[in-house]
Amino acid sequence: MCSIGEDDFGDEGAAHAMVVEALPLGIVLSPGNCSKCDVNSGELYKLNFRAAECRECFLTYARHKFRAALGAAKILPRNAEVLLVLDGSAKSLVLLDMLHFAQTQNQFKRLHCNARVVYVEEQQVQDRDPVDLEALLSLSVQYAPFDFYVIELGQGCSLQRIKDYSPSLKANNELIHKLQKLQSLTARQDYLQQQRKNLICSVAQSLQCTHVFEPNISVDLATQLLTAIALGRGASAALDVALLDDRLSGDVKLLRPLKDLSEQEIQFYIHAQRLKPLFQSGSHYGMERGPTASLQNLTSAFVANLQHNYASTVSTVFRTGDKIAVNSDPEQATCVHCQSALDSELSDTLLAIEYSRSVSEAGVSLYKNGQDLESLAKKRLEMQDGLCHACRAIQAELESGNLL
Ligand SMILES: [Zn+2]
Ligand SMILES: [Zn+2]
Repeated sequence: MCSIGEDDFGDEGAAHAMVVEALPLGIVLSPGNCSKCDVNSGELYKLNFRAAECRECFLTYARHKFRAALGAAKILPRNAEVLLVLDGSAKSLVLLDMLHFAQTQNQFKRLHCNARVVYVEEQQVQDRDPVDLEALLSLSVQYAPFDFYVIELGQGCSLQRIKDYSPSLKANNELIHKLQKLQSLTARQDYLQQQRKNLICSVAQSLQCTHVFEPNISVDLATQLLTAIALGRGASAALDVALLDDRLSGDVKLLRPLKDLSEQEIQFYIHAQRLKPLFQSGSHYGMERGPTASLQNLTSAFVANLQHNYASTVSTVFRTGDKIAVNSDPEQATCVHCQSALDSELSDTLLAIEYSRSVSEAGVSLYKNGQDLESLAKKRLEMQDGLCHACRAIQAELESGNLL
């Protein structure tokens, strides 16, 4: 906990005390020696499961996690064109800062890639205030020479350079329209997530980027894994939490270099680098409706609770995802909406569901032979519209029209 001598700050004591209150839990302001480099520091960082260390040692440690994720798997080709997705959350600023730092190192330590940044404006869909454009512009100055772009979710191809950007006045947001047609919040959130991913992929393609950096951290991935399973996306859940997700179209690869960072590490990094998040992270579309409003909300609440009470369990959950084998047959047919491998070809369960559907629809009298019913069920699975099991569930909720 924080401790400050009463008379450390003289007349300004009160003002300082207010800053202290805002410190993330675990940052100690009493001077002490760093357990790593032994330097005496007035501000020590004490992560769970680590000894107290100075700012520099903490930053080195946190940045190493980012570099190790990219380096270990040799996953990023030299001089790759990278698109970084900024959503204004604390973790997206950490990712931006870490990437920028890695670019400013000397020849040997430098991460050799070219980066562009896209801010995805979700204001209309999320029904919140527009982003603070001044703050965004000053980020683009601070993190030069990265080029900054803005795109609005649900406004077609509205990609603009930040200096040319002015918020669209068009009230007619096609995505909101589509979302309103879906009955359950579960389907809406799932659909929105796919659409956002497809949008980012199209931005990457139009900026000729081969790789996309997304700021997901360990707790996001644990939530994502459990959500995918709950939604019937189990066959592709491993890719939802892997470092590399190659389902995007046009050979664009999605990377999650912060996957091993915890929420506490993000908070410490924000403090150490004095970054100013544009939005509170963790609030997503439909979240205000509470934990029981959708499968995703329920899963988020469950993982948040785990994180609070059994922090180490969260990393166990998402590491389980790493161990699920990914079906990586390039010939495998994929879903036209989410680009996951078509599970109808992989799953006996889906066949069983279709089988019982056939039985109830046809009536037993019509097909006395089980063999006939099975081949009918198989045929029906194959004839479906190129959608995977989970996307078909969304499609079924649309009152009219098509998903795509
Ligand atoms: Zn140190
Ligand atoms: Zn799908």
